[in-house]
Amino acid sequence: MSLLGLAARDGRTKGREVNLLEVKELKVHFPVQRGWFGRNRDYLKAVDGVSFTIAAGETLGLVGESGCGKTTLGRAVVRLIEPTSGRILFDGEDITEMRRSKLRLRRRHFQMIFQDPYGSLDPHQTINQILGEALAVHKAFRHPVNRRNRAEELLRAVGLDPGCLLRYPHEFSGGQRQRIGIARALAVEPRLIVGDEPVSALDASVQAQIINLLSDLQRERGLAYLFIAHDLAVVEHISRRTIVMYLGKIVELADAKTLCRAPKHPYTQALISAVPVIGPDSRHKRILLSGEVPSPVNPPPGCPFHPRCPIAEARCRLEPPVLRETAPGHLAACHLAK
Ligand code: SF4
Repeated sequence: MSLLGLAARDGRTKGREVNLLEVKELKVHFPVQRGWFGRNRDYLKAVDGVSFTIAAGETLGLVGESGCGKTTLGRAVVRLIEPTSGRILFDGEDITEMRRSKLRLRRRHFQMIFQDPYGSLDPHQTINQILGEALAVHKAFRHPVNRRNRAEELLRAVGLDPGCLLRYPHEFSGGQRQRIGIARALAVEPRLIVGDEPVSALDASVQAQIINLLSDLQRERGLAYLFIAHDLAVVEHISRRTIVMYLGKIVELADAKTLCRAPKHPYTQALISAVPVIGPDSRHKRILLSGEVPSPVNPPPGCPFHPRCPIAEARCRLEPPVLRETAPGHLAACHLAK
């Protein structure tokens, strides 16, 4: 079965799966100059032939070490970065090469929240201006009074006091600023939110509050999320399915719980072994990977993970493994995965 044919399991329609987002063979390659006077050109393959779907109302987790391409992928699916090739379909409509003017109108359906809530909020604007701007861009609330009412409603939805509209971002804590970022994303009633490490900069107790907020909003509004993180424990908690990326490619995709309990790809196994376990557990052995992540400008031949893989065989150095279904709904790109 092809990856795209795999049904996401929690679409909002009963008995029928609806793909809100379909990503097909997406590539994002950045040109890199090298040699004397930069005469030669290489390509940094940040995203290299990635396909997946997200159903309406589903959360798909996306994990991998820093530099694996997950942020580039998240930005490319909402066209904040232009893809090199491949297709992005939102609600059945191809948005890959959609003109900017038309895309601006569609953007209200897919929004983004960022890792650094402070950096993504203009420090010179009040919360009223920040939310009002998001509303005005989409022409949803033309009248200032309507915009203000809507901004108050949004603050209540994310658990903030609507009386703080005239305050500035620096007057809030990190968790509160992330709530403002979420309110801004919600301003135009999106159907999909791409969260680029939205809780990574927060401490553990605040992380849990933001994740609970995102789950509540999903239940109330039927939102779908592409949730990007490097922490597998966080992703397991919020996602139905999880993708693991390595050097711009998907190496494993499965139901979130299955992926954490019975990973099939050696890279996923190593990531999971690095998640701290509370209490004595003699079965929990850390798998230490040798070496650094290779450069995406010059990835290794064969399986891109082979220089670090503890079970690599001779053919791994020559043949690139295909991402294939090893069990229903469980895909892995490893010659030895069963
Ligand atoms: Fe390791 Fe080979 Fe599997 Fe790659 S294909 S993950 S090198 S065993």
